[in-house]
Amino acid sequence: MATGWGSLLQDEQQLEELARQAVDRALAEGVLLRTLQEPSSSDVVSYAPFTLFPSLVPSALLEQAYAVQMDFNMLVDAVSQNAAFLEQTLSSTIKRDNFTAHLFNIYKQVLKEGIAQTVFLGLNRSDYMFQRNADGSPVLKQIEINTISASFGGLASRTPAVHRHVLNVLSKTKEAAKILSNNPSKGLAQGITKAWELYGSANALVLLIAQEKERNIFDQRAIENELLARNIHVIRRRFEDVSEKGSLDQDRRLFMDGQEVAVVYFRDGYMPSQYSVQNWEARLLLERSCAIKCPDIATQLAGTKKVQQELSRMGVLEMLLPGQPETVARLRATFAGLYSLDMGEEGDQAITEALAAPSQFVLKPQREGGGNNLYGEEMVQALEHLKDSEERASYILMEKIEPEPFGNCLLRPGSPVRVVQCISELGIFGVYVRQGKTLVMNKHVGHLLRTKAIEHADGGVAAGVAVLDNPYPV
Ligand code: ADP
Ligand code: MG
Repeated sequence: MATGWGSLLQDEQQLEELARQAVDRALAEGVLLRTLQEPSSSDVVSYAPFTLFPSLVPSALLEQAYAVQMDFNMLVDAVSQNAAFLEQTLSSTIKRDNFTAHLFNIYKQVLKEGIAQTVFLGLNRSDYMFQRNADGSPVLKQIEINTISASFGGLASRTPAVHRHVLNVLSKTKEAAKILSNNPSKGLAQGITKAWELYGSANALVLLIAQEKERNIFDQRAIENELLARNIHVIRRRFEDVSEKGSLDQDRRLFMDGQEVAVVYFRDGYMPSQYSVQNWEARLLLERSCAIKCPDIATQLAGTKKVQQELSRMGVLEMLLPGQPETVARLRATFAGLYSLDMGEEGDQAITEALAAPSQFVLKPQREGGGNNLYGEEMVQALEHLKDSEERASYILMEKIEPEPFGNCLLRPGSPVRVVQCISELGIFGVYVRQGKTLVMNKHVGHLLRTKAIEHADGGVAAGVAVLDNPYPV
């Protein structure tokens, strides 16, 4: 059982019976999504897609990913406080990328006025793939870190029961017991709770900035439920509601429908299509307030692909985390090759290399949410087109990670049960709270494994490509 479940994957009838049981258990556990047809209503829901079996993950890599999470929390927090670094890093990008420029404008306006917020809350998820080394051994390589709307912490708490069920049906009780318990939503809620307490107003609320059409509502509700159990009330509002009914008082305290807001938790606002002119104004209002934004605009900028690429440049980690060589070494060990496409020799060289070996690179714009990166022939065409234009600075190039594929079944509503070749992506959830200059909380709070068929280069669960999974440590 080096890479998978071996002969179990051969018995089609058994797979179908297992899948029926797994789907019913998933529904019973609350591994749910609203449907594509009715994304604004919970009248009809279905199960969130998931793998029939947990996927094998080397324990050492799982441990490494957990061990480096507090370092990543610290790094993101350091970047968010370093205005000179953000300004310099994003200067070429914001000339060509409107979305990043808009975020950056808000950042500059807030800096100029003075930051009213004194407590900072980070809820992030660092994602990795397992690169196959020359000798065949797997190595942990970071894909990206999500500093805004990092999702699936709620549903990931409920999938271990489903995979244990499948293994128990097969009388594999020892294997079932190896599936790790996982409760990211509880940890994320602990972070929000800590921030809320430090805000220090017993009647203040948590404002969750929500999308009108939200298929992934049960994932968000898991966090809301945890907060309510601690007697912290959450209201869900859209940017449009904020622009109509949100206001600041003289001390820049934020009020929504007349109620004071302690924490603003964004589950919207990470893509250009989510912002109208009105929504940008609402975002500015929120940023100007002293409410604890998760994330504040600087931390959202710290999560851009351009920042990720600059962090990999020699000396940058050392500058951001002075006197912490061990932290720097742990972080750097997870970095894949990342290349700037700014005008100049370095960028020219990267383009030449990518054109010479397209299968080894990924071209990434400054976008979140999946489905935006370019691979293979598409990447070549884009590079040919961009090569002599300043527009190329809005992209970065990244080494393409090539994990070892394995067999599993991806269960989706309406799709037949069949074994396909897959690869996985591991995410670790991180939480930190800073008060002034002091980090008062810094921890990892769980994991997410997502698995997809190898024919899809890009995309996550929300994008309809990857499905929920659990690591089976080996
Ligand atoms: P997004 O912010 O849109 O989620 P990501 O950088 O996470 O952007 O890329 C989206 C998906 O593309 C990832 O989930 C992964 O499946 C794939 N991907 C991204 N970068 C790489 C890479 N360097 N090598 C292989 N696959 C990648
Ligand atoms: Mg991603």
